[in-house]
Amino acid sequence: MTIRLAILPLFLALNFSMCKRNPSPATSSAPVTSSPTSAETTAGGSPGAGVAAAAPSPKKITKPVVDQTAQTIIFCYHRLVDKIRYPGTEITPAAFEAEMKQLKDAGITVITMQDLLAWKRGEKNIPPRCAVVSFDDGWKSQYEVAWPIMKKFGYPFTMFIYTEGVRGGSLGGGEAITWEQLADMRDNGVDIQAHTATHQDLREGHNIMLAAPGGKRTRTKLTGPQYEEWLQKEVVGCKQLLEQRLGIKVNCFAVPFGSYNEHVKEIARNAGYEAMFTVYGQPITFTSPTDSIGRYAIEANKPKVFVDAVKMIGTSSGGASAVAEVGAANLSTQPADGETVRTALPLIKANLSGVGAIEPGSVQMRVSGLGVVPVSYDPKTGTVSYQVTQKLRDNSCTVIVSAKSEGKKVEAHWTFGIDAAAAGAPAPAPAKPVPTPKK
Ligand SMILES: [Zn+2]
Repeated sequence: MTIRLAILPLFLALNFSMCKRNPSPATSSAPVTSSPTSAETTAGGSPGAGVAAAAPSPKKITKPVVDQTAQTIIFCYHRLVDKIRYPGTEITPAAFEAEMKQLKDAGITVITMQDLLAWKRGEKNIPPRCAVVSFDDGWKSQYEVAWPIMKKFGYPFTMFIYTEGVRGGSLGGGEAITWEQLADMRDNGVDIQAHTATHQDLREGHNIMLAAPGGKRTRTKLTGPQYEEWLQKEVVGCKQLLEQRLGIKVNCFAVPFGSYNEHVKEIARNAGYEAMFTVYGQPITFTSPTDSIGRYAIEANKPKVFVDAVKMIGTSSGGASAVAEVGAANLSTQPADGETVRTALPLIKANLSGVGAIEPGSVQMRVSGLGVVPVSYDPKTGTVSYQVTQKLRDNSCTVIVSAKSEGKKVEAHWTFGIDAAAAGAPAPAPAKPVPTPKK
């Protein structure tokens, strides 16, 4: 009896996994890493477990019903060092570990990049609130320091490698990761993806460095056929080299500095990349285009980027009418949160382009002391603005911008101060230029 009961689920499981393999040729692009990593995601009681259990009617081959309201934030890290010298691309191991812990504490599930893409193809479910962790540029500290921390949490991750930057390559110095280390990561389920050959601006006519045969590097601009040939090496050559050296399938392409255009995208698509990644972080939804997936680049001196990213998906509890709170810092507001202006008639602005597709008629701004104000919204730039025409009386002003994006209400709150003395002055000049908030 016990034996039969034990055999039955086994039979169903086998049957199910065979069904899964056959129906779509797209599964041939399934990651080499899928078995160890999906085991990881399933272990936490994720919906993946439910899928296998729900297989008792194997005659119908159906795609899993995926939760289209799930959201994923993607992080991009570079070097892990104890002493920060380049805050733009470095983080201390302690700060990194603390951030990984925060994901866990916030109930955010770290999934593989391949699971994210499978979900976007409608082939696999993911938990409602997810994160993907990626490391760029191939530093050995990612192998020596980041990996053990990731193992501690049982988190999967993706490495974006530029091939000339691997040790022994023309740009691979002593701090670079080695091919042997990459192979070790591959063998242990780490996803390895492409980040060009030499890590430069890929757009035609931009300044680049070219290595001459003697090893000397010269600054130049390429156009026409020469540019096309170089672009092929960067986009296609990098993929081929990674696939050949490591025996893997590469389907993701992280664009250096996020600088690309339609032509670069087309070359990448033709090369077989399924997804392209930039550095303009935003929650990834079911309908986010896969050729410009934004990642949050985490820098040592801007811890707020991480906090805001977590906040972006932190408030969506799965309820249909939930309001997603957006960090004002993500909207490049003007005046900025916490800033003090010297006019009672400020121009109030926010940029909603990072929020996702906005339904134009849904954009609304409330200003404390004024209520709902008539805003202008430019769908092309995503900018919502309102020139205050009636003097603000308080010495602080709260703005609430809300909009609907993909059926969900998103909202941002921020508060700025008004310098009373300056505000009382007659005929206020146009708002004094204030330090522009960072992008
Ligand atoms: Zn990079």
